[in-house]
Amino acid sequence: MRRWNGWGSDQVDFPITASAKAYLVRIIGSAQPGPSARYEDVLASVPRAELPAHPLISRDPGLRLKHARGQSLPDWIALRSGAVGRIPDAVAFPSTEKEVEELLVFAKKARAAVIPFGGGTSVVGHINPAGGASPVLTIVLSRMFRISWLDEESHLATFGAGVTGPHLEAQLRARGFTLGHFPQSFEYSTLGGWIATRSSGQQSLYYGRIEDLFAGGTVISPEGRLELPPFPASAAGPDLRQIVLGSEGRLGIITQATMRVTVLAERERFDGVFFPDWDQGISALKKMVQDSVPLSMLRLTDSDETRTTLALAGHERLIRLLERLLRGRGVEEGKCLLLVGITGETEAVRKARRRALDLAQAHGGVYVGRRMGNEWRRSRFRTPYLRNTLWDLGYAVDTLESAFIWKDLPSATEAILSRLRNGLAAEGEKVHAFAHISRVYSSGASLYFTCIFRLAADPGETLARWHKLKKAASLAILAGGGTISHQHGVGTDHLPYIEQEKGKLGLQALQALANTLDPFGIMNPGKLVPPLEGD
Ligand SMILES: Cc1cc2nc3c(=O)[nH]c(=O)nc-3n(C[C@H](O)[C@H](O)[C@H](O)COP(=O)(O)OP(=O)(O)OC[C@H]3O[C@@H](n4cnc5c(N)ncnc54)[C@H](O)[C@@H]3O)c2cc1C
Repeated sequence: MRRWNGWGSDQVDFPITASAKAYLVRIIGSAQPGPSARYEDVLASVPRAELPAHPLISRDPGLRLKHARGQSLPDWIALRSGAVGRIPDAVAFPSTEKEVEELLVFAKKARAAVIPFGGGTSVVGHINPAGGASPVLTIVLSRMFRISWLDEESHLATFGAGVTGPHLEAQLRARGFTLGHFPQSFEYSTLGGWIATRSSGQQSLYYGRIEDLFAGGTVISPEGRLELPPFPASAAGPDLRQIVLGSEGRLGIITQATMRVTVLAERERFDGVFFPDWDQGISALKKMVQDSVPLSMLRLTDSDETRTTLALAGHERLIRLLERLLRGRGVEEGKCLLLVGITGETEAVRKARRRALDLAQAHGGVYVGRRMGNEWRRSRFRTPYLRNTLWDLGYAVDTLESAFIWKDLPSATEAILSRLRNGLAAEGEKVHAFAHISRVYSSGASLYFTCIFRLAADPGETLARWHKLKKAASLAILAGGGTISHQHGVGTDHLPYIEQEKGKLGLQALQALANTLDPFGIMNPGKLVPPLEGD
């Protein structure tokens, strides 16, 4: 069963070794296990539902509780401490578009706010009920998961928007195709959620980001249906698909989506290379992407993340051997690990690999074979389970991400890491912060930051620590010329910073769009677009 206040299935754990624990103590300090509220106690505190009965909704307290929060650190603090905050008044699981329409009519009549819910993996507060007097109806798309159309000639497939990653891939692979969209939350996140948050998969270098894959679909808004045909291209004015991408449930409910799919690749491999330092790694990456070497993934971890990954991996003897080998080749303390993914036909994979490794070598890279890449592939969707382990040991984990043009990337990385590392100095707390480049583009790359710090005895203090770090890092991102989000979206957590990125007029245009499709403002209020002054 899925954990109600942690990540993933309660049948899966991610234990770490005694030496990995000792590493954390050495770097951050010894910690006390975090709180873990009992489900029964929290359930007993769920308030009465403020929505009238309807055949399509459930007011069951357990279902409401399980759809109340996402996966951000503030969500974890709320769920683990048992102070969950606002809980939806009802949850609905429509199976058809007609039921979705009926639910929106019901919500309008009841003056309820509506939160579309995919897999609940949001890390920026997207699916949490906002404040305000309106009752809240959460509409979960999980019953709309089937493939309804596959055009093998045009490489297009239509799915219900509630389909999760594994289920979508299983349906396509059975027919020889793949979507190739693999966010780390793949196990639980859904097609509708990916589109509504402009998600990016780990192999988007080959398959494309979700905006490249989304060909069309249907959105049901409070004002009616928006149909988006899957034209291969069109010059008929602005592309309406772009307003659905990143809409975060503010415009309506995506019920089905037609996706550009790819024939399953003949080969796929992930190779490991170590660079003596971050700058040489970046130079190699830039060259690879600007020379259009056909790769599927370039993931470069900075020296602190490389060290932490090796320390938490547990294979101590093997790692000692590896480090000895690297030292012999001039790669020492500042080493940075690059994983190179290559996907395609056998001959194309062979050529791309050769070219990538030649470029890596020209920038001081030392090739270490496939073992690290295979290990990464094996645990790519298991890594989030580490958050459960760390919480139980007394450590909070938060991640944030951005994208920068190449010129700004090195200085921005340094500035953000420094803000994070010193962010809790006043509290006398250490923050272990590190970064990796997770996606590359010819003009720049996305940076993904992780910070680990100790949980305070009081959950309110842990939340205050998070606020402090989040604010410091967000301001450093904006000051460094980055976007407030490369792949997680805006939700509530990035709302204070969105005006700086979009501008006042840009936000007014987005607000006007929301007002057109949702004039009574019932769709996911409080997310993506701040209310206009006077609203
Ligand atoms: C461990 C972990 C790893 C992650 N890794 C990645 C990653 O590699 N790449 C990445 O891009 N993101 C990642 N994320 C973030 C998250 O998984 C994405 O934002 C994902 O796209 C959310 O999908 P979901 O189905 O869970 O949506 P939810 O969290 O349920 O909803 C997110 C938003 O989308 C809206 N929405 C959902 N479904 C619909 C619909 N059918 N119609 C209209 N609106 C809808 C919701 O209203 C909400 O505003 C990660 C999160 C976690 C916890």
